[in-house]
Amino acid sequence: MQQHFLIPDSWVNLAYVAAAILFIVGLKGLTHPRTAVRGNLQSALGMLLAVVVTLLADGLAYQWILLGALIGGLVGGIAAVRVRMTQMPEMVALFNGFGGGASVLVAGAAFMLTADPGARTTVSTGLSGLIGSVTFTGSLIAFGKLAEILPGGQIGLPGLKAFNALMGAAALACVGWLTVDPTATEAYWIIVAIAGVLGVTLTIPIGGADMPVVISLLNSYSGLAAAATGFVLMNNVLIIAGSLVGASGIILTRIMCKAMNRSLGHVLFGSLGPGADGPSADDVYGGKVKATSPDEVAMLFDTARRVLFVPGYGLAVAQAQHVVKNLAGILEGRGIVVEYGIHPVAGRMPGHMNVLLAEADVPYEQLKEMDEINQEIEQVDVCMVIGANDVVNPVARTDPRSPIAGMPIIDVDKARTVVVVKRSLSPGFAGIPNPLFAADNCLMLFGDGKKALMELVESLKNS
Ligand code: NDP
Repeated sequence: MQQHFLIPDSWVNLAYVAAAILFIVGLKGLTHPRTAVRGNLQSALGMLLAVVVTLLADGLAYQWILLGALIGGLVGGIAAVRVRMTQMPEMVALFNGFGGGASVLVAGAAFMLTADPGARTTVSTGLSGLIGSVTFTGSLIAFGKLAEILPGGQIGLPGLKAFNALMGAAALACVGWLTVDPTATEAYWIIVAIAGVLGVTLTIPIGGADMPVVISLLNSYSGLAAAATGFVLMNNVLIIAGSLVGASGIILTRIMCKAMNRSLGHVLFGSLGPGADGPSADDVYGGKVKATSPDEVAMLFDTARRVLFVPGYGLAVAQAQHVVKNLAGILEGRGIVVEYGIHPVAGRMPGHMNVLLAEADVPYEQLKEMDEINQEIEQVDVCMVIGANDVVNPVARTDPRSPIAGMPIIDVDKARTVVVVKRSLSPGFAGIPNPLFAADNCLMLFGDGKKALMELVESLKNS
């Protein structure tokens, strides 16, 4: 479906090229915390340009567009204000889903309005319906799991892989049907229905530690669906933006897979999750856990020269980032070197810890990536693990049968003394006990992250 614009096509395409350049420059900026805010603004400017130029298309019913923008803007605005930092991954999952859903509706509507669709239109409509619908329902399931509306663990159903393969083949066959007979609009809705079921059955078995990979994969799918819709509409900027989302999502998926030692095949076919036959919490902890107090931890700092903070999901829950910065300031005032060890999947979304620490104005130079800090961790005098669990669990190194076996971790157990701040011995996201808590060099400071650190700050001030 070729659009006609109120300005010459050459100007439209020039503006689209400018928008595409802004997207790419913006993406480059997002690769470093220092340039991320600027990168975000550049990409947003590119999107504004693309939207304004697209609105100059001939024959648009602006009243409907305005109504949609108002309703969407209102819902988005309220959500942006009300959603807590810890709920951000759920929100991202929903955004991906709505992107996929929008592609299904736009491609379907454009197809129905096309008088004599050629093979390009039918194939791209079919693919948009397929990928968009998988993304929509898959993202709703991911949202349900993260929001704990659905069980978060692995759900194994016999014969599911064969069922998925059959459904995928049936959906592709319907894309073929639509291509051969473009008048068969029912084929499109059958594709959407089958893919909707597929989105559920592909995502539901995936549990625990694989969730971040699923979210970035669904993000990539939402981009691919948008790119396919771009081919239906023959809108260059939608093709470019969709491809950029598709490609960056798949790159992020790869990085996530590496960070969790999961292959993409395993994620796609949902064959992983917490194992049932691992050691129980009683076996791991029985009589070996040493609880400590803020006063005792304050004394540890008397002789420390190098301190490492390792934040995790619990830091986000407790909103303890500002008090950590406060504590770091006191330690630095005593001449202690303070650093932060950042695991790529600490928290519940990629970059979660960077965002939190940036909010508290922690200098970027103090943030050490996992590989870098692991090389020097033996020289750390006191390592404070704040609300992190799976990302510091040594069984990833030591137990090949563990569900997180092979996942790279921050080797905090190799520091001279480790203090873990958390409320109890409850497991983390992967649902398995952590022998670090029972290690000889480990002390447990039980309590809410923020409260415990505030007490520690008080003890330090009084000592
Ligand atoms: P974990 O989920 O392993 O552990 C978090 C710990 O925080 C819990 O054990 C909990 O213990 C503690 N906690 C919760 N609330 C508080 C609080 N108020 N004060 C102090 N502690 C608290 O977190 P990690 O960051 O170590 O690991 C991330 C996990 O999440 C990995 O398994 C990763 O695969 C997964 N994941 C990561 C995503 C990402 O993109 N980063 C996305 C989705 C999942 P207690 O209840 O005893 O306080």
